[in-house]
Amino acid sequence: MGNTNFNVLILGGGPAGLLCAWQAARRGRSVLVLERGKRPGGKIAISGGGKCNFTNRTCMEDDFVSANPAFVRSALARFGPADFLRLLEQYHIPWEEREQGRLFGVKSAIYIVDMLVDLCSRQGVRFALKCDVQSIEKVADKYLVKTNMGAYRAHSLVVACGGMAYPQAGATDLGYRIAEQFHIPVITTKPGLAPLRYTKQDYDLGELTGISLTAGVTHAGKTFTDQVLFTDRSLSGPAILQASCTWQPGEAVTINWLPEIDLFALLWEKKQSRGATPVTKWLDPLLPNRMARLWMRRYYPAVTPAKCSREQLLQFCNSLNQWQFYPAGTLGFKKAETTLGGVDTRALSSKTMAVKNVPGLYFIGEVVDVTGRLGGYNLQWAWSSGYAAGQFV
Ligand SMILES: Cc1cc2nc3c(=O)[nH]c(=O)nc-3n(C[C@H](O)[C@H](O)[C@H](O)COP(=O)(O)OP(=O)(O)OC[C@H]3O[C@@H](n4cnc5c(N)ncnc54)[C@H](O)[C@@H]3O)c2cc1C
Repeated sequence: MGNTNFNVLILGGGPAGLLCAWQAARRGRSVLVLERGKRPGGKIAISGGGKCNFTNRTCMEDDFVSANPAFVRSALARFGPADFLRLLEQYHIPWEEREQGRLFGVKSAIYIVDMLVDLCSRQGVRFALKCDVQSIEKVADKYLVKTNMGAYRAHSLVVACGGMAYPQAGATDLGYRIAEQFHIPVITTKPGLAPLRYTKQDYDLGELTGISLTAGVTHAGKTFTDQVLFTDRSLSGPAILQASCTWQPGEAVTINWLPEIDLFALLWEKKQSRGATPVTKWLDPLLPNRMARLWMRRYYPAVTPAKCSREQLLQFCNSLNQWQFYPAGTLGFKKAETTLGGVDTRALSSKTMAVKNVPGLYFIGEVVDVTGRLGGYNLQWAWSSGYAAGQFV
């Protein structure tokens, strides 16, 4: 690459970086995207099980976890779900609405990556691929970015290199190192949208590996009614991933395995009218067989059904309607879909994503302390924050 001087250098060719690059180039800025992967948009390509849950029908500050959730308002108001849908329509990319307003591509997520790269290329954005950013310096009023492919300079530097989640798809700690270098506060990072690990006491749940059922998962005053999946080491599935965003070590997550049914009312009525029928007979139509048996083994008192008292039956039913799950931890960044915490929003302008006291430096996307709940909100934050910065870099 001959030219090494640009108006804008963007570190990371993910969804936030691509949106920002397109918008900045539209304004006539010369833009270089530096991306360590072979192609841009690596996480977009694997998102939503390969179909990309690119946004949600409704997107509000309540859909985000942050020390300051109101920070998202300004960027969402300027580039929201309808704006992204307009782009897909322009490129004739079919999409569909699934449960809870989640919007997915109908075909491969690669079409969305190709669209974003095309939007950028048409505006003259340049890409340096397989380009690993190693260090940053501020020299007079310019940023000097050193990489394995040489050094580049620009007045504006956009940090769009994502968070720590899913390092298999290119995540590095570069963004946090740059924040530290420029004395920008960072809220402690943690895995978000991550499976919750069993303690030793719960290892027998591994026997239920592969079972998935709709349950109500409650944590921090919010209930998510969605799929929960048993795996060999953890509970996973959308409802658990949602709860993982607020869960803290030592806390319980309450799970209602039969969210539509008041089990005690049902079983007590059956016991009154039919006496000694085994409880498994009533549970079998309600729960997967293996799970019903494991729950009986764990929680049903060692008495015959006829001798089971009202109190004992109530306790058993509560173990299904209000089960207290104490996770040992999450499965870590390797299995997490996103990063909680990140660059403190109080250091940034919510209008421009610029660092308030470091001229020309911007942070967008996952590296910022804004984490979307499951359902397309993380990508929407990437689009919105990228768009916002793109108007000012
Ligand atoms: C398996 C999986 C599925 C997901 N599905 C969805 C979904 O369906 N919907 C949704 O809303 N969200 C989803 N997410 C979350 C979403 O993908 C991220 O929140 C989003 O990609 C963040 O965008 P970003 O641009 O900030 O960072 P990233 O997408 O992480 O992009 C950052 C880029 O920077 C590059 N980079 C990092 N370090 C360097 C360096 N030193 N030098 C050069 N380049 C560097 C990386 O290679 C990467 O391409 C999913 C995440 C995962 C892991």
